[in-house]
Amino acid sequence: MNKLHQIIHKYGLRKTNCRTDVLNLFLENKHALAHAAIEQQLGKQYDRVTLYRTLHSFEEKGLLHSINDGSGAVKYALCKEACNQHQHHDNHIHFSCTSCGQTYCINEVHIPALRMPAGYQVRELHFSAQGICSSCSKAQK
Ligand SMILES: [Zn+2]
Ligand SMILES: [Zn+2]
Ligand SMILES: [Zn+2]
Repeated sequence: MNKLHQIIHKYGLRKTNCRTDVLNLFLENKHALAHAAIEQQLGKQYDRVTLYRTLHSFEEKGLLHSINDGSGAVKYALCKEACNQHQHHDNHIHFSCTSCGQTYCINEVHIPALRMPAGYQVRELHFSAQGICSSCSKAQK
């Protein structure tokens, strides 16, 4: 079984062409993808609504998480195993490259648990960093 089928199977998704194609894009790309970029890469095969529904169901299932990197467009990236249908655990840094404009999930950096003052309950935490990504810094040399 290839990775794609494993994922479809694991998350109990019904296999559709759109889901397969969208998922493939996320497996091929190392960086997060905005709706427009997905649309662009898939051509005009699927209408907007179908794409929205696909992304939404992936996010609900704990397969993708959405990222607000300040670019104005929501981006999506694959989740790690820890996420499921009920809760996302994507406490990692999102690195936005100021050179290529791509956003990457940085899972290698451990983020320590933060203690909030009494009375504050954290529902979501967002860590974002900006700079030059590894492929851009390689290209500069
Ligand atoms: Zn997640
Ligand atoms: Zn870059
Ligand atoms: Zn991420």
